[in-house]
Amino acid sequence: MAAKQYKKLGCMDVNPAGGCAFEVQAETADEVMRLAADHGKNAHKMTSVPPEIAAKIKSAIKTVTVNV
Ligand SMILES: [Zn+2]
Repeated sequence: MAAKQYKKLGCMDVNPAGGCAFEVQAETADEVMRLAADHGKNAHKMTSVPPEIAAKIKSAIKTVTVNV
């Protein structure tokens, strides 16, 4: 068994008022950002990620350790 670190982000962490339970997990923060932008576009009709939201996303990304 080996421990692997993932980056994790919940939509709620960025927008608690949104009530969206979407969570994303990826190996890198960049990948999380990409998936979060995709989710914003598809689920929240955000055509682009404004800098203040991008900053919020970055600070909300958590590192989790998963045993694989
Ligand atoms: Zn969402």
